[in-house]
Amino acid sequence: MLDKSEYLHPDKECLSRQEIEKLQVERLQATIRHCMNSPFYKKKFEEMGIKPEDIKTVADVRKLPFTTKQDLRDTYPFGMASVPLEKCVRLHSSSGTTGNPTVILHTQKDIDEWANAVARCLHMVGLRPNDVFQNSSGYGMFTGGLGFQYGAERLGMLTVPAAAGNTLRQIKFIKDFGTTAIHAVPSYVTRIKEVMDQQGVDPRRDTKLKVLAIGAEPHSEEQRKRIEEMMGVKAYNSFGMSEMCGPGVAFECKEQNGLHFWEDYYIVEIVDPETLEPVKDGEIGELVLTTLNREAMPLIRYRTRDLTRVLGRTCPCGRNHIRLDRMKGRSDDMMVLRGVNIFPIQIEKILMQFKELSTNYLITLTTDNDNDNMTVEVELAAGIHLSEVLLQSLAKDITRALKDEILLTPHVKLLTLGTLPQTEGKAVRVKDLRTVYQ
Ligand code: AMP
Ligand code: ZN
Repeated sequence: MLDKSEYLHPDKECLSRQEIEKLQVERLQATIRHCMNSPFYKKKFEEMGIKPEDIKTVADVRKLPFTTKQDLRDTYPFGMASVPLEKCVRLHSSSGTTGNPTVILHTQKDIDEWANAVARCLHMVGLRPNDVFQNSSGYGMFTGGLGFQYGAERLGMLTVPAAAGNTLRQIKFIKDFGTTAIHAVPSYVTRIKEVMDQQGVDPRRDTKLKVLAIGAEPHSEEQRKRIEEMMGVKAYNSFGMSEMCGPGVAFECKEQNGLHFWEDYYIVEIVDPETLEPVKDGEIGELVLTTLNREAMPLIRYRTRDLTRVLGRTCPCGRNHIRLDRMKGRSDDMMVLRGVNIFPIQIEKILMQFKELSTNYLITLTTDNDNDNMTVEVELAAGIHLSEVLLQSLAKDITRALKDEILLTPHVKLLTLGTLPQTEGKAVRVKDLRTVYQ
C-alpha cells in the first residue's frame, strides 16, 4: 500500500490510468466550452463545427485543431485570451528572434494552480517546509524565476530569490542560509561549482545541499550525472515552457526514469512533425500539449517543437502520470550539415564521456571554401593540465568518438577552463556562421 504522506496531492497524484482519463475528458469538455470566449478559438471551432459533446474519450482530442507559436504571434498581444483583460493579473512574454514576441496571460486562479503544480514537483523529490530553497534562475519575463518562487513558497519552504549571477554571493548564501535545494539551468550549476572550486568550497563538506532542480534547457543524461557527481547531490530534470505556464509542467520523481507530465493539467500527445499523426509509444516525435485547467489562455494541441518519446505510464513511485524521455532538443535546434541531421545533445553526450572535459562547450558552424564545417570547442575540467602531446591525443580520441556519433569529422579545440563565454540564462551551445546561399 502506498504511503499517502509521500504525495502532496494524493487525490491527483495517485489516480489510476482510468481515473486520469476520465478527469481529462471532463476537463477537456470544459476547456472547449471556455475557449468559446476566445475570438481565436471561437472562430476555429465554429468553422470546424466542434462541440464539447464531441469529446467522449481522450483520443477525441485529435478532432481539435493544432495551435502553433505563429498563432500566438499573429494574435499578439491579447487575441488568444479567453477572459476579459481585467480578470488577468500577470503577463509573461517570451522573446522571439523574429516578429512579435509571444504573450501568455494568467488569472489569479492560473497563478495559484501554477504554484500548486511546482509545489507538487518539489515535494515529489523530497523537499518539505523545513528546506531552504535558493532560486538561482533569472527572474522577470523568464518563468523560471517567479514560477519556482511561488511554487517553493506554496510548499512552505524558506525561499531565497537569489536570481542568476553574482556567483560569489550565491555561494555565500548557500553556506550562510543553509540552502538545501537550488534551482538553476544546468550550465549555471556548473558555473557555481567552478567558483566553489576557486574558493576552496566543497559542496559535500561545506553546504547542506541535497537536491538540485535543473532544467529550462536541453541537457544529456551524461551531463546530469556529471552535475550530480561534482555537487554530491541528486539533480532532477525540470521541464516547462511559458506557453503552458512555465516550470511545473513535468518533473522527474526520485526514480529518475523520465519526466512525469501532470496529466490532470495537460493532455500529452507525441506526433510525427511531418504528418502530424500520433507516433507509437517509444518512438520520437513532437510533443503536443493541451491545457486542461487554464483560465486566461487555454491552449489546444499546442505544438511545442520539443522532441521526445513516451517511456511509460506507470512508475514504481506510485504515480501513473505519463513518463516522457528527456528532450532530445527542439526541431528548430537540429543542425543540417552536409545533409546530415545533428542535434547538439548528441555532441554533448559524447563530450561528457571524457572525464578530462568540463561541461562547457560551444559548437560553431562555418562555411570554408564552399564546405560546411563544424568546430567543437570544449573546456578542460578543473585541475586537468596536459602536455601538448597528451592534448593532441585527447583531441584525436574526442574527434573519433564524435565522428562515430554524428558521421562527420568536426574540428575539436581543447580550451582551458573559463575561456568560453559564460551565460547566466539558458546556455548558447551553437553558433551558426554559415553563409546562406539564396
Ligand atoms: P521558455 O518558454 O522560454 O521557458 O522555453 C521553453 C523551452 O525550453 C521548451 O519548449 C524546451 O525547448 C526548453 N526546455 C525547458 N525545460 C527543458 C528541459 N528540462 N529539458 C530540455 N529542454 C527544456
Ligand atoms: Zn515516478
